[in-house]
Amino acid sequence: MSKYAIAIHGGAGTILKSKMTPQKEEQYKSALMEALTIGETILKNGGNSIDAVEMAVRSLEDCHLFNAGKGSVFNSKGGHEMDASIMEGKLRNAGAVATVTGIKNPISLARKVMEKSEHVFLVGEGVEEFAKLHGLEKVDSNYFYDEFRYQQWQKIKDSDNFQLDHSDDKKEQKFGTVGAVALDQHGNVAAATSTGGMTNKKFGRIGDSSVIGAGTYADNRTCAISCTGSGEFFIRGVVAYDVSCLMEYKNMSLSDAAHEVIHHRLMEIQGDGGLIGIDAKGNVTLPFNTEGMYRGFAKSNGEKVVEIYGYSD
Ligand code: ASP
Repeated sequence: MSKYAIAIHGGAGTILKSKMTPQKEEQYKSALMEALTIGETILKNGGNSIDAVEMAVRSLEDCHLFNAGKGSVFNSKGGHEMDASIMEGKLRNAGAVATVTGIKNPISLARKVMEKSEHVFLVGEGVEEFAKLHGLEKVDSNYFYDEFRYQQWQKIKDSDNFQLDHSDDKKEQKFGTVGAVALDQHGNVAAATSTGGMTNKKFGRIGDSSVIGAGTYADNRTCAISCTGSGEFFIRGVVAYDVSCLMEYKNMSLSDAAHEVIHHRLMEIQGDGGLIGIDAKGNVTLPFNTEGMYRGFAKSNGEKVVEIYGYSD
């Protein structure tokens, strides 16, 4: 059997053990483990990395704990606008959608854009129509209702502030975007990212998660990357592509390139967050410059890990 590997994330931020209850921790860990196992099983059975990342992300989108799909945060109008993107590393095909409403699994819509349209990026009315045409599962706004997220929004809805996921205060930032990267037994890598964005974000705001090169990137020659963090900084830093470029142009290893981007280049512009990356040899990296990041990986050698906190916590 050839090598395969998958890594996932459920967002980065001020995630401290001291602020978590054992029950909550267990819920997060089992949701991450479930998503990981879904992707891992596809890869173990010889399936494609693109299926593995789509299905792992769908599982996280269906879980209310994460800020994507079902758990998406409220925007400034009290609605939910979601962004997602997916990319495969062989031919570098990609699909992306932004400001999507009422779709259960935005990541599958992004994949449809990649496979069934001539385009890479669809937004607004056009994406709604495209979703209808391709029979994507619709849900009404109650599906996205979550009391905790609603209360978060209530606290800041009359201000111009916007904040990242569960944050009560700007110093307590936590991002709940979800993502997956995978290498399949055929040697192909893929990446997928999906998010509800930021609480009280302006209507029409698009973050990095749907921007190819910023929040998501895949190239068999280098790596597959999915990011989470303050999207504006990830767009300005073209973070996912920057990791790939350092590998391609400077011959850096995956982990050195990802470390350089997350701990130096992103921090130079005061960006916070993290990423997950995988290369064609099955190496995995999960760097973040925040206190914690929901994350996990599984490899064909049997290693399987799910973690939440930073190394010093
Ligand atoms: N990157 C996402 C955004 O800015 C937020 C997150 O990672 O939670 O929309």
